[in-house]
Amino acid sequence: MWWCVLSQWTKGMFECSVLSLFPGLIVAYAKESILGRAQSQGIFRLHAVDIRAFAAGKHRVVDDVPYGGGAGMLMKVEPLVGAIEASRRQFPNAPIWLMGPCGRRFNREVARELAGAPGVVLVCGRYEGIDERVRAHIDGELSIGDYILTGGELAALCVMDAVVRLLPRALGNEASASFESFEDGLLEYPHYTRPPTFRGVGVPKVLLSGNHAHIAAWRRWQSLRRTQAWRPDLLVGRELCAEERRLLEQEEDVWSLDEEGA
Ligand code: SAH
Repeated sequence: MWWCVLSQWTKGMFECSVLSLFPGLIVAYAKESILGRAQSQGIFRLHAVDIRAFAAGKHRVVDDVPYGGGAGMLMKVEPLVGAIEASRRQFPNAPIWLMGPCGRRFNREVARELAGAPGVVLVCGRYEGIDERVRAHIDGELSIGDYILTGGELAALCVMDAVVRLLPRALGNEASASFESFEDGLLEYPHYTRPPTFRGVGVPKVLLSGNHAHIAAWRRWQSLRRTQAWRPDLLVGRELCAEERRLLEQEEDVWSLDEEGA
């Protein structure tokens, strides 16, 4: 199958190998938008590997009933380990992460860590999960949250998308990633674009002032306020500098926030 044609490691390019029973899902998502552009610009390369290609026999069976009974089917160990070993040979320096709800919680730090490696291999489970013996062949398990998905593909896509955004040049505008939520431990400030009035609601005047220092301070103030209101957990253990403390104490009217056009 075309997605099984494993190509060689390319220096400087982030190699993302996703092992799945539905590789078409991965390829389809990664074709569009930033991931598509990053691929055509040689910033990252996707290898969507069909685990079924590593299953033996005419029917290439990939699942079986669990020993000891119970509902559902499990992914068999041989095809999974076959696919994992092929990836390990191809990308010896890439960590291999299984997608699964019992794993380390995926967040910005993990995304940064993965983006710093030459590549990553993401293994997608299906059904009730995998034969436990697969664990000896992976480097760890990554969870995207405390809920159960039907398969690891959505989780792998979340991981891949978040990691590729962090690669140099992937966003086109280098500045965009650095101002996003979580980058400095805060949520992002609010944005507005045209029209200047929507159903009677205008845009904060400060954004139309042309005063860049004032705008930057307002944005910082908004980030701090939002984080305090919506995600106070992010501020726990985060030392606020004097300027941040001063900003947080400011009242709305300091910014002459009456909306333009309202
Ligand atoms: N029976 C398992 C869930 C299996 S769900 C349990 O209770 O733990 C099927 C597959 O979806 C898993 O093997 C895993 O690859 C993927 N998956 C489900 N939830 C996930 C999550 N929160 N994060 C990452 N992968 C997940």
